[in-house]
Amino acid sequence: MGIFISIDGCDGTGKSTQLELLCEWLGGLGHELVTCRDPGSTDLGEAVRELLLMRHDLRIDRRSEMLLYMAARSQLVEEVIRPALAAGKTVVCDRFLLANVVYQGRAGGLDPDTLWQVGRVATDGLSPDLTIVLDMPSEAAAARLQRTLDRMEQQGDAFHARVRDGFLAEAQQFAARFENARIEVIAADRSIEEIRDEIRNVVQACLK
Ligand code: ADP
Repeated sequence: MGIFISIDGCDGTGKSTQLELLCEWLGGLGHELVTCRDPGSTDLGEAVRELLLMRHDLRIDRRSEMLLYMAARSQLVEEVIRPALAAGKTVVCDRFLLANVVYQGRAGGLDPDTLWQVGRVATDGLSPDLTIVLDMPSEAAAARLQRTLDRMEQQGDAFHARVRDGFLAEAQQFAARFENARIEVIAADRSIEEIRDEIRNVVQACLK
């Protein structure tokens, strides 16, 4: 079985930047890599992603929103992640179930426990071996984003502060929830190189 790593955190914390650096490094170490993003990375997942993030004209209630994320993830697990892990590949995913629990649950008002339960169904029990959470004040993270904001990014400062707190709260409870899965919270308001090196250290520890 290959290894499954997800990178999560608020938008603007540097997930894409660090994912690319991590993959470059793992590739150099000889890993066969599969990178993906959740939601996305399948035809269904990308279509759902478009609905969730770009369709400002649609009314999408929280519960519907949560289930759309779950449906995209279910397809991602079946079509991409499980086959890659079975082939011994290393999977690095931009976000995973934790983000759903935090955005729609902790910040969005749905019950986090229920989301973990629905998530277990959607992923058929698959969770990352290592989850990296990039953490920094949400306003500073938002200030890094120059591009036009998508539907989730437009939900306002108070929402994003709840997202940050939600990631930290879930990280604290993670060990009790998952026996064999690790989570590492990494301070993201530092230089790209410092964060990169710390991520390498935690991944290296996980590979052992
Ligand atoms: P995310 O994928 O979490 O939204 P990105 O990797 O796209 O974050 O980074 C958001 C913006 O911040 C980009 O313009 C990126 O170049 C910049 N950035 C990433 N990491 C850092 C860092 N450690 N310090 C300052 N700016 C950063």
